Amino acid sequence: MTASPPGAAPSPGRSGPARPPRPKFAAAARPELADTRLRRNLRGAAAALREREAAAAAEAADWEDLREAGRAIGDGALLDLDAHLEELERAVTEAGGTVHWAADAAEARRVVTGLVRAAGAKEVVKAASATTREIGLNDALSRAGVTVRETAVAEMVLQLGEDAPSHLLSPAAHRDRAQIAELLRRAVPAAGPGLADDPAALAAAARAHLRDRFLRARVAVTGANFLVAETGTVVLVESEGNARMCLTLPETLISVAGIDKVVPTWDDMEVFLQLLPRSSTGDRMTPYVSSWTGVTAGDGPREFHLVLLDNGRTRALADEVGRAALRCIRCSACQNVCPVYERTGGRPYGPVHPGPIGAVLTPLMRGVESAADASLPYASTLCGACADVCPVKIDIPDVLVHLRGRVVESRRRRPVPTPEMALMRGLAWTMGDPRRHEAAVRRGVRWARLLSRGGRIRRLPGLLGKWTEARDLPAPPAESFRGWWDRTRA
Ligand code: SF4
Repeated sequence: MTASPPGAAPSPGRSGPARPPRPKFAAAARPELADTRLRRNLRGAAAALREREAAAAAEAADWEDLREAGRAIGDGALLDLDAHLEELERAVTEAGGTVHWAADAAEARRVVTGLVRAAGAKEVVKAASATTREIGLNDALSRAGVTVRETAVAEMVLQLGEDAPSHLLSPAAHRDRAQIAELLRRAVPAAGPGLADDPAALAAAARAHLRDRFLRARVAVTGANFLVAETGTVVLVESEGNARMCLTLPETLISVAGIDKVVPTWDDMEVFLQLLPRSSTGDRMTPYVSSWTGVTAGDGPREFHLVLLDNGRTRALADEVGRAALRCIRCSACQNVCPVYERTGGRPYGPVHPGPIGAVLTPLMRGVESAADASLPYASTLCGACADVCPVKIDIPDVLVHLRGRVVESRRRRPVPTPEMALMRGLAWTMGDPRRHEAAVRRGVRWARLLSRGGRIRRLPGLLGKWTEARDLPAPPAESFRGWWDRTRA
């Protein structure tokens, strides 16, 4: 297995003209914050899921034991990842499948595009997969003349609307029923102009749109929720059943999965198949749990390929604090409790990993060299709600603070200090000497009292004004504690 080169970009990486750099989180969040409809949709979706998940966790008497087991299995799998991956490769190969190793997104795209070409297909059906989004597969296939049909309804909606995902579990959570109905009326002629915006009508329109695509597809591409090393089995959970159609009808099946999806044994699935549905949709069980192992004569696809993707995961694994984030089972519970995510949605976090887990996974996998990636660890209030609900006990705030430290360290090496660094150096110099400190406090108090009206400072000048944009500052008292002490106790 090869590690990704430092800074390998998991994002699509087209071969065409260079894209403008991704904006920092705060800049990317501004338009989302101004979109009241999007915020209302997100608030409704997050609140509904939050309530269901809390109830589902509360009814399981051994919930805390399950969480602890999930943490321990995840840590154990990561500790011996190389051995588990080799075992997985052996088992897949013995079952008639082929394993391909991809160090980065470009290599994964090349492998999948080559396999689709070799199958002679001009169209593929795709089951929801954040990993294929991570490698920019749809763009790569369309450049190769292959049409990609998303089959998960939310992904299909995003594809038809040329939209970006906003949620791990419900990628189109920022769209309401009326918007989806409008989109289907426009993009799917068979839906008809009178398509109602009730769930049954929308589901029927989506089903009719997808059905013949399933029947004529010769190649399917899927992601995976888990890879069982001992048997070489791929496990995928979903609530629609569309992925299952991808697994059974086409002749060639290609599954793309991150190397962090490995679990050692089937017994481990007992834990994860309880944790995942309760933490993702608030259900006791996910409606469809599909598993497949290699190929079987006369049953299902004739060829099976498993593409194992690194793309920065070994880089994250090398980080002693950050590697805990690789335990993530993508349940989305942390998103549904996050006060930042609820207001901004998932898109400001970048194209692949939205929400609190994205704020740590993306910089862990890509590094903090770019301004956009370095801004993600700050996209949090550090309230800790994400750590409280995480079914595999990832302490996201702990990793965020660790990553903020890495961002500061990387800035220290710059030849020209940022305004914040210059300010901190000045403060360190001032506070390093009691006389300098006292003189600065005296001057600061005089200056602050000049700015105050009625005991409050409503606007600070210059860069400090950002602090008072959303709050007042109480005016300092006329006499400092030290002054009072000297005056009364001397
Ligand atoms: S970090 Fe935890 S809560 Fe968030 S998606 Fe991953 S497993 Fe779920």
